[in-house]
Amino acid sequence: MLDPDDLSMAASWLRDAQHVVVFTGAGASAESGIPTFRDDDGFWQEFPVEEFATWSGIFRTALRQPRRVADFIYAVLHPIASARPNAGHLAVAELERHVRVTVVTQNIDGLHREAGNAIVYEVHGSLFEVVSLKGRFRDLLSRRELLRISESLDRARRGCCVLPRTLLAIRRWAGLGLRGIRRPNLVLFGDGMAEPAWSQSLEAVRECDCLIQVGCSGAVWPAAQIPQEARNAGARVISIDPQPASGLWLTGTAAEVLPILVRSAFGDATGANAT
Ligand code: NAD
Repeated sequence: MLDPDDLSMAASWLRDAQHVVVFTGAGASAESGIPTFRDDDGFWQEFPVEEFATWSGIFRTALRQPRRVADFIYAVLHPIASARPNAGHLAVAELERHVRVTVVTQNIDGLHREAGNAIVYEVHGSLFEVVSLKGRFRDLLSRRELLRISESLDRARRGCCVLPRTLLAIRRWAGLGLRGIRRPNLVLFGDGMAEPAWSQSLEAVRECDCLIQVGCSGAVWPAAQIPQEARNAGARVISIDPQPASGLWLTGTAAEVLPILVRSAFGDATGANAT
C-alpha cells in the first residue's frame, strides 16, 4: 500500500526539482495491455530468451518452426499496435507542465510520445521505426499501420503456408524489400544501445536533480545502470513498482501512483494542492 509519508516526501522532491528524468520499463505500459517480460505471466515464459531474444535465434526458429515465430511476432506486435497511453503516461505528460522533464524509456511502444511528452529517448529503439540491416532509417509506421500489419499476420499464422504468408503480411515492417532487408529498429540481446538516444539519456541523467524510475526490474543492462548514474550525480531517486525497488519506493502500479504523485506535488488542474 502507498505510504502517505513516502508520497509526501516524493512530492516535495518533485517540487524542489529543476529537471526530472522519468525512466520507464515494461511495467509502465502493463496497464495499457502490453505484457512485461519477466513477471510471472511475462513474455519470456511463453517465448524463451534462448530462442527469441536475438536476431539469429529468431531466424533459426523461423526456418524450423515458422508458425511459432509468427505467433511470437504477433504477441509482440498486436498488444503494442492496439495500445493507448494509460493514466501513468498521461501523468508524466502532465508533469511537463510544471517542471522540465526528460523521459528515458526502455519501452518500444511509442506511448510516451503519444501521451504528449516532448523529449523522449527510446534507448531500446522503437517498434514503429523501420531500418535497413545496418540500421539506416527507411520508414516510420503509424500505430494504425502497425495494427493492419498485425491483423494480416494473425490471418497468416492461422492458415497454411505460414512462412510465405507471414513474410507477405509483415513486408512493410520486416523482411526483404526492393532496397534490401528491412527490420524494426529494436535493440535485442547483444546489440548496442540505440544511438544517439543512449548518449543523450546519460547526459540528461547526470544533469537531473530527481529521477523517477517506473516499472523497471533492473535486470536489463546497461539500462539498469541509469538510477545509479543519477545517484552518483547527486539526484534523488523515486521508484514506482508493485515489487520492492531501490530509492524512495512508492508501492503500487504506474497508472495508480503516478497521477497521485503529480497531483500531490503540483495540485490538480485548478491549482489545489493535495498534500
Ligand atoms: P521487466 O519485464 O523485466 O520488469 C517489469 C517491472 O515492472 C517489474 O519490476 C514489475 O514488478 C514491474 N511492474 C509490473 N506491472 C507494473 C505496473 N502495472 N506498474 C508498475 N510496475 C509494474 O521489464 P523491464 O525491466 O522493462 O525489461 C524488459 C525489457 O523488455 C525492456 O527493457 C524493454 O526493452 C522490453 N519490453 C518493452 C515493452 C514495451 O515496450 N511496452 C514490454 C515488455 C518488454
